[in-house]
Amino acid sequence: MALNVIMMGPPGAGKGTQAGRFARDRGLLKISTGDILREGINAQLPIALRAQELMDRGELVDDATMIAIVRERLMRPDAQPGFVLDGFPRTVGQAEALDRIVAERNNGPLIIVDVRVPEHELVRRLAGRLICAKCGANAEPPKAGEAAPTECAKCGGELVQRADDNEQVVLERLKVYDRATKPLVDFYRDRPTFRIVNGAQAQELVAHELETVIDDAALAGKKQAAPASVKARSPEKAASA
Ligand SMILES: [Zn+2]
Repeated sequence: MALNVIMMGPPGAGKGTQAGRFARDRGLLKISTGDILREGINAQLPIALRAQELMDRGELVDDATMIAIVRERLMRPDAQPGFVLDGFPRTVGQAEALDRIVAERNNGPLIIVDVRVPEHELVRRLAGRLICAKCGANAEPPKAGEAAPTECAKCGGELVQRADDNEQVVLERLKVYDRATKPLVDFYRDRPTFRIVNGAQAQELVAHELETVIDDAALAGKKQAAPASVKARSPEKAASA
């Protein structure tokens, strides 16, 4: 059975790092929407080129286009052992479409992991974020008990605070995230395969908790799935799947 995972979490929660690490450990495909868009554009996929057109005009990529791009990627053979999706779905419409894609794959349930970090901790992480003034690389966050680095690990350039990372801006960004994500959390929260991970711990501990909850959710999903392989949330949705 495949492990089909989506990772949710606010900016600064470290979910991208954790998603990459988990995918690597388990031999799964890590998929971020930015990556598949770039990949699709390089491969001249018509659907990805359409998305690029929208972005070039300064418009948002619409749900239907985004869904088609994700679907194309998830139906390829190398995604069959499973995937870790980062940055999708962002809307309930996308989430419903993802349910249909997972049903179509017919290989394991969808596991939803929500990485939570208290707001004050996110502000500390994000507002304190340093970048290299010379090459733009992100500075490594200081390890517990160590002083923050003062120069770039890559080129030795001076580290400065990101211009858009002051506390007010960070708080506003987190509010926007919360508002946008609440309907998604409501959409998923009652499922036996929905799990919350405490992202306010050391990276190693987050990684460990993530593994534990995903394996546990996979088991819960397996029990639920038998024998009818697909259970949509309502009969109407099942009919349209
Ligand atoms: Zn640098």
